[in-house]
Amino acid sequence: MWVWPIVYFALGMFNILFAWLGMIDFMLPLMFAVFGGNKYFCNHLCGRSQLFAYLPGKLRCSRGKLAPGWMRSSWFRYAFLVFFMAMFANVCWQSWLVFGGARPVSETVKLLWVFRVPWGWANVAGIVPDWAVQFAYGLYSLMLTSALIGLAVMALYRPRTWCAFCPMGAVTQVICRVRGGNERQ
Ligand code: SF4
Repeated sequence: MWVWPIVYFALGMFNILFAWLGMIDFMLPLMFAVFGGNKYFCNHLCGRSQLFAYLPGKLRCSRGKLAPGWMRSSWFRYAFLVFFMAMFANVCWQSWLVFGGARPVSETVKLLWVFRVPWGWANVAGIVPDWAVQFAYGLYSLMLTSALIGLAVMALYRPRTWCAFCPMGAVTQVICRVRGGNERQ
């Protein structure tokens, strides 16, 4: 599955609507956690973590050091989850504003929540409503930003350091605990 994130980001360079495929990475882990009480997605299907494990083996691009304690701590994990959810809520809000005609589509990808990168060439939506295009830009921004952070911590520390504070990993862990399931399945 390691090739999936590469395909995803490549598709989003040609047509931003492919960013909607990122919802699969949101919904699948939740479904396994809610209905199965397990983290099957994390352990077997997550392309992102498989890419982080694969790249250092091929390119020797990870220092392999243990991440600092704060980065592996519960408080950071859940604080980052709250922050990430707030950013996702903002994506939905911006899409709502476009839906209501309060603002036009922003044809940019926002990196690290700050830097706007022009991405207008990928807006080839045709008859798709503007709010759906705006959501695609927002989701792609979130996915790309989190991937870049994951790559950075992969290089600086151990390959799968991102998993220590990945929002989907955190939320599915909470769900599994509530359900009393086996988090390791
Ligand atoms: S914690 Fe996140 S990145 Fe890691 S395997 Fe789970 S969903 Fe994938």
